[in-house]
Amino acid sequence: MKAGFVSIFGRPNAGKSTLLNAIMGEKLAIVSPKVQTTRHRIKGIITENDYQIIFSDTPGIIEPKYKLQEKMMHAVKTALEDADVALLLVDINENPEEAHQIFEALDLHVPSVVVVNKVDNADVNKKQLSTDFFRNKKYCTSCVPISALRGLGMDELMHSILKYLPEGEPFFDKDDITDLPTRFFVAELIREKIFHLFKDEIPYHTTVIVNEYKQKSTLIKIVADIIVQRETQKGILLGEGGRMIKQLGTDARKDIEEFVGQKVFLELFVKVRPKWRDNDFILKEYGYF
Ligand code: GDP
Ligand code: MG
Repeated sequence: MKAGFVSIFGRPNAGKSTLLNAIMGEKLAIVSPKVQTTRHRIKGIITENDYQIIFSDTPGIIEPKYKLQEKMMHAVKTALEDADVALLLVDINENPEEAHQIFEALDLHVPSVVVVNKVDNADVNKKQLSTDFFRNKKYCTSCVPISALRGLGMDELMHSILKYLPEGEPFFDKDDITDLPTRFFVAELIREKIFHLFKDEIPYHTTVIVNEYKQKSTLIKIVADIIVQRETQKGILLGEGGRMIKQLGTDARKDIEEFVGQKVFLELFVKVRPKWRDNDFILKEYGYF
């Protein structure tokens, strides 16, 4: 039996969350075209007869500018500490030198697979150049080109991971797919819709708290707060005559119903908490450790 922790690292937008979802065949991590969508370490567990892999999606690696971002980098650090195998994800169209510097700075002491993602977005020549660039780096145990979005190269990637995964007994029950509660994923799905519906700074000033999650006879009742930093942001989230919040509720409800496999009644409130992103107590209350 093999068992171990495999953490996915990379710059914002490399496709880390898309990769976790592709591996899991289920949407555990929210995805958007905007950077810094992921704020937590999210685990996805795969158990087969002869192995168990605990994958961790992590926030993109950045230089923190406010406390929330410090917490995000802390999530990266803990994933670094227990990784048995690291996946160093790079977008084939990003600057390889910059990605290289980040990978080198991680100072990894475990087998590290450089995963060149988004090959669907580049020609064969570029794929060769990119894999050649990383293959001779010191930290690179092997290099695998993939497209997380199209599911290309996934078999080869799994093969590499299994090669370096240590022997051991499973850490989780064979039926577990994650270690976080359903409420967490509900809040994330709402947050994802905010990333999709709102421009500029709004998603970065926002978080979501699920206050009520109750199984009723025919459906699940969910009440959630959307927290913003300023009154003006509240106005934007509500929209004219409540148009935006209604759209947000509809979009989020559809995804939540798919996730929980049941009908959902979703009620959303918008609340202002000035400077929540910089307040240790509030961050803790909101689940950012
Ligand atoms: P993260 O910040 O590293 O977690 O990146 P996400 O998974 O949120 O993805 C960022 C953006 O890249 C999203 O718009 C994804 O749809 C897109 N993306 C991810 N993987 C691929 C891929 O293999 N090919 C293409 N063309 N786009 C991708
Ligand atoms: Mg992400």
